[in-house]
Amino acid sequence: MLKGPAVDRPPAGDSHRRNLAALLRRVHLGGPVSRVRLAEWLGVNRSTVLALTGELAAAGLVREEPAPTAGRTGRPSLLVRPASDAVHVLAFDIAVDRLVAARVGLGGVVSGRLEATRPRAGADLDFVVSVLADLGRALQHSAPPGSVCVGVGASYCGMIRPGDGLVRYGPDLGWVDQAFGVELARRLDVGLPVLVGNEAHLGAVAEHQRGAGVGVRNLVYLHGDVGVGGGIIVGGELLGGDGGYGSEVGHMLVNPYQGRPCGCGSHGCLEAEVGERALLDAAGRPADSIGRDAVRAVVADAARGDPAAREALRHVGDWLGIGVANVVNLFNPGVVIFGGTLREVFQGSAPHVRRRIRANVLPVSRDKAELRVSAFGDDTTLIGAAELGFAPLLDDPLGTPVPAASRSS
Ligand SMILES: [Zn+2]
Repeated sequence: MLKGPAVDRPPAGDSHRRNLAALLRRVHLGGPVSRVRLAEWLGVNRSTVLALTGELAAAGLVREEPAPTAGRTGRPSLLVRPASDAVHVLAFDIAVDRLVAARVGLGGVVSGRLEATRPRAGADLDFVVSVLADLGRALQHSAPPGSVCVGVGASYCGMIRPGDGLVRYGPDLGWVDQAFGVELARRLDVGLPVLVGNEAHLGAVAEHQRGAGVGVRNLVYLHGDVGVGGGIIVGGELLGGDGGYGSEVGHMLVNPYQGRPCGCGSHGCLEAEVGERALLDAAGRPADSIGRDAVRAVVADAARGDPAAREALRHVGDWLGIGVANVVNLFNPGVVIFGGTLREVFQGSAPHVRRRIRANVLPVSRDKAELRVSAFGDDTTLIGAAELGFAPLLDDPLGTPVPAASRSS
């Protein structure tokens, strides 16, 4: 699984390989930076940083260019920037209702993005993988000439076995033990494995590295689609649990006696009380009203003063506040981030969420926890998938073999 960002923290020790990795990660996450600053940040002298950036430039991973001098005299400092148009990953986001693919350049630049609708019924492994492989191939064909694909990452809305991308359990479509990662790699055929992660885990990492949680050591990310996913970062590291299935905030039991049925088979889980169906039912919407647009329509109607929509957001906001109060008491996060459809649901129900926090969170934790919304709109999980794809390169910049098949032509 992904490691936390190293932007604010050089690694312990100063071995050459670790310094190369730290430097590339710094440029990838932080953008163009002068050699002088890199030397200060790494705690090495200028000739060492010159050698390090030279190796990364020779490998085609960074470029060095004069900084704009703004009229100053003297020798300009060289800026080191990621080679975004020469090195990319393919990122996939498999959500309940849509399939998204993107080509993302080193430095996090999304240079191509394609999307297809995913039917909520009958979308079996073969269908999903063949659509994604078509999108991925199209993105490879439209890549800048000579650009090299160095990784493939995918975000899946279910429980993923670490290592091989097996979908252990996809609650919304009933997938059990489907070899998703292996099958997508086979169909995509770029000579690289497909690294797969749970959507909310990857969303937490994306917000931590580039979004609303940069610089925060402890955060909770809550992702809403049909249900609610959770990603918890503790001390800069994702809390995966013993088997990689941790942080399932959506199945935290909040209403066991009168609770709504949950997709997991239980009753009264947080996602059963605040998920898509809970909000739409509370607002009196018909059963065929589904999806992120339907959820956002309730929030928009409430903002216009519609009484049923306002009452639905009050009801769901109270349950959301109960869930957030529990995770804040447990993890004492600096920030709680709402993503996916919970972004709008939180914005429409914030007073009710905050009331619960005031009433139910211990003051010592309550004073610290900020509530924020995702920085990436609907693409948090896609950005997280891209970071997963970059992880092997960032861990060992010169040790990652680049397969011939991944070079676009
Ligand atoms: Zn559940």
